Amino acid sequence: MEFPLVNILGVNVASLTMSQAVEQIEAFMEERRGALIATANAEMIMQATNDEAFRHIMNDAALVVPDGAGAVWAARHLGYPMPERVAGYDLVQALLARAPQKERRIFFFGSAPGIAERAREKAEALYPGVAVVGIRDGYFTAAEEPAIIEMIRSLHVDLLLVALGSPRQEKWLAAHLPELNVAAAIGVGGTLDVMAGAVKRAPIWMQKARLEWLFRGLLQPKRIGRLMALPRFVWRVLDSKK
Ligand code: UDP
Repeated sequence: MEFPLVNILGVNVASLTMSQAVEQIEAFMEERRGALIATANAEMIMQATNDEAFRHIMNDAALVVPDGAGAVWAARHLGYPMPERVAGYDLVQALLARAPQKERRIFFFGSAPGIAERAREKAEALYPGVAVVGIRDGYFTAAEEPAIIEMIRSLHVDLLLVALGSPRQEKWLAAHLPELNVAAAIGVGGTLDVMAGAVKRAPIWMQKARLEWLFRGLLQPKRIGRLMALPRFVWRVLDSKK
């Protein structure tokens, strides 16, 4: 499938629905081509404007989905159709829900010690038969890295979820995908934290009101500084259209 790309401040984001994103990633898993999937929000796009290496990684990714109200708004404001938000968390749930039937082998890599275990328990409860074949937390030294890569490689993973935060997770994947022997990999940010119950998602009404970013900012005060990326992003998009 080829999706129209929308250039948002230099980052090409696919214009597609959630179900199209799921189908595309299923196709990547069948092809086993080591596809890198990124979920772009306003903060990541702003980061990419200042980080050329990161921007190239995003633009070389097999698929970049619009995760976040900011990305959807920007695309529409620039005059492109953007059917809906494809939130990373929801995308992962949809893929995990289909995984048992397709016998997918999943690996959770990243987040604080203990989180991936709890996320795996949650996945097993929600999606009976799901095969989370390996987990590893995201706090490791350079000396430990080769063993992590070897563990993932040896497990013949279909879907690797990497939760190291952005842009580190995308950079890590871009550097190591060829040696990982995975069919597809997604940078998932805080998804494992939410699955583990360590971080809450915004209530549905807030998600619908496109205020999830505000909820996250209020819930995790250390993110307040990062929230400032949003007004700067809006300003840059308005300015880029002039
Ligand atoms: N993290 C990690 N190793 C690190 C730094 C962060 O595994 O050295 C994890 C952190 O525990 C959290 C995730 O990366 O689970 C970042 O989540 P966040 O919601 O901040 O993602 P972002 O919005 O930055 O993509």
